[in-house]
Amino acid sequence: MSRKFFVGGNWKMNGDKKSLGELIQTMNGASVDPNVEVVCGAPSIYLDFVRSKLDAKFGVAAQNCYKVPKGAFTGEISPAMIKDCGINWVILGHSERRHVFGESDELIGQKTAHALESGLGVIACIGEKLDEREGGITEKVVFAQTKVIAVVLAYEPVWAIGTGKTASPQQAQEVHEKLRGWLKANVSEAVANSVRIIYGGSVTGGTCKELGSQKDVDGFLVGGASLKPEFIDIINAKA
Ligand code: PGA
Repeated sequence: MSRKFFVGGNWKMNGDKKSLGELIQTMNGASVDPNVEVVCGAPSIYLDFVRSKLDAKFGVAAQNCYKVPKGAFTGEISPAMIKDCGINWVILGHSERRHVFGESDELIGQKTAHALESGLGVIACIGEKLDEREGGITEKVVFAQTKVIAVVLAYEPVWAIGTGKTASPQQAQEVHEKLRGWLKANVSEAVANSVRIIYGGSVTGGTCKELGSQKDVDGFLVGGASLKPEFIDIINAKA
């Protein structure tokens, strides 16, 4: 089954109307591989702004949302609000949400279920910390995190995020292949064959081609480099 290559940009808490406006202009004017699905994760306050400026061939994602449609949850946004702004995607479970803001696997599962129920596409992020990798429990960690499913799954080893230390193509392929095996055993063969498993963690214009050529690497989630013109090279990694 063929899986469309997927490149997500995660702008995190960066940019302002001026700099994001310039980035959007660059993206709108760039020639990009039509066989790639591109989705940019914008800060929530700029979702509307970004959606109104960014060419419709690019998707936009929120970087978080809450687990219920509305109510007394100061500071949160719901999938319904995201959809109301014309946005079709949300990034959930990013390591910064898990480790800076203390979100649990359970909460991320509830958010994922509600977002999917509401009709949003979900980029669900999973990944082990360095001590977990060194302790030999990478699989245990990513399988536990993967119990929430049916989405674009972003494997992002925490030690590779924002560190300049990209996983080697072999390391990424190994975990992606095992995750696909887990999906086959625990969900279904059809889900295992269709879920796109993308890699994140210090992806650059220099590393994207070899990573992207691995059998089970179906795209990228890009932080730092998604704010730079080299993001276009990453989108075009397979062209
Ligand atoms: P990075 O971030 O590309 O800057 O390492 C990836 C991410 O956090 O999604």
